[in-house]
Amino acid sequence: MNRVTKLPRHVLVVGAGIVGVCIALQLRRAGLEVTLIDRDEPGRGCSFGNAGIIAGDVVAPIAAPGIVTKVPGYLADPEGPLAIRWSYLPALAPWLVRFVWAGRQRIFEQNTRHLASLTAQAQAAFAPLLAEANAADLIRKTGMLTVYETEQAFADGRRDAAYRRRFGGEAVELGPAEVAALVPALARVAGGVRRPNPHQVVDPLTLTQRLHDLFAKLGGQTLRFAVERIGQVDGQWQAQGQGTAAQSDALVVACGAWSKRLLDTVGLRLPLDTERGYHVMLPGAEGLLSMPVSSGEGGFFMTPMRHGLRIAGTVEMGGLERAPDPRRVEVMLRRVRRLLPGIDERNPSSWMGFRPSMPDSLPVVGPAPGRPGLFLAFGHGHLGLALSAITGKLLTQLLQGEAPSVDLAPFRADRAWT
Ligand SMILES: Cc1cc2nc3c(=O)[nH]c(=O)nc-3n(C[C@H](O)[C@H](O)[C@H](O)COP(=O)(O)OP(=O)(O)OC[C@H]3O[C@@H](n4cnc5c(N)ncnc54)[C@H](O)[C@@H]3O)c2cc1C
Repeated sequence: MNRVTKLPRHVLVVGAGIVGVCIALQLRRAGLEVTLIDRDEPGRGCSFGNAGIIAGDVVAPIAAPGIVTKVPGYLADPEGPLAIRWSYLPALAPWLVRFVWAGRQRIFEQNTRHLASLTAQAQAAFAPLLAEANAADLIRKTGMLTVYETEQAFADGRRDAAYRRRFGGEAVELGPAEVAALVPALARVAGGVRRPNPHQVVDPLTLTQRLHDLFAKLGGQTLRFAVERIGQVDGQWQAQGQGTAAQSDALVVACGAWSKRLLDTVGLRLPLDTERGYHVMLPGAEGLLSMPVSSGEGGFFMTPMRHGLRIAGTVEMGGLERAPDPRRVEVMLRRVRRLLPGIDERNPSSWMGFRPSMPDSLPVVGPAPGRPGLFLAFGHGHLGLALSAITGKLLTQLLQGEAPSVDLAPFRADRAWT
């Protein structure tokens, strides 16, 4: 199942987010003819506004035991990490049922291992791309810190750290004085957990652009149009837009949260939805933090970036059509003001993006079931930046007829949802 027998010479990649660009670039580096298609400039989707963390250690799925009992508390808390647009609930219901189902202890632990099989190779997969694209200056290797304002939340944080250690991750618990010594700008907190592993990108858009520039330099072609449907014509795969089309031996769908729409056109129905997330950039707060700091209670990161401090995260379930809710940014800022007293909030700019999320928190990577020549690479949820390079590497191995260096069975589109 992990091997492709009929090898393509020319591949279409639809979607030029960080995932699609990493796939296109690695296919091109391997000598294939590659055409990348996007309706927008590369990197302007969800990949534009993330928190910049490239985790190479252990990350637990969002679908976790006990999440059902925690949700009412999150929703009731005006500073909580989760919001639901209630009018979207009927459409979301099937996804939610699977999400809760995937949170059972046994499945949670199994999926933690599956995610770790990808994160373990995530940073190494980036290394050659960063070197060739002259993008090493965009990466910092400072590790990160999660802080907890209350004792109760810190107790949860300690449990989370112990869980990560159980699977081989490094997570060190710190008392209030140790947190203050590590990041002096922070107000006093109940405690923190330091993870030395994660790398950080100081400018996610520029990273995608540099990787795309390298793709173009190596002879990769980029077309700009909105793909309305995909299908097979004369044994080839075709991406069709308004009055325009492209076709080739193989096609990779890497359209992030919009992938479901294209797959519907070939009758593939997958439970992909979106966890909307927000960021606000504070240009005057640049230099305040020496490493990314996340709020355990707030579900967001404060990441020092090239053009300011980026406050990014939280989850809003509300689909792809509804307008952003500016209150979600204010919710993060209220907590930020407590954690970083006196922070310079002048000239903020805010953004909302659509995380492509499968209910079990695992991406879909590999061949489409029953459709030879069609490949899938989406659903990376909270880890799309981190897993983009390894996803590109695995698909390249697959399309060259090699056995992928990570077992792709857990990431199949037709995996069991029980
Ligand atoms: C607030 C926030 C913080 C985050 N922080 C992190 C983090 O720190 N670390 C991490 O690893 N991940 C993080 N993520 C998640 C990460 O950003 C995403 O998982 C990742 O960007 C998804 O990349 P992608 O290429 O799959 O999708 P996208 O970046 O959304 O790209 C999809 C592309 O497909 C194109 N497209 C869609 N439909 C069509 C069509 N029909 N025709 C043509 N083109 C089409 C779009 O224009 C877009 O360019 C965060 C997300 C958010 C919202």
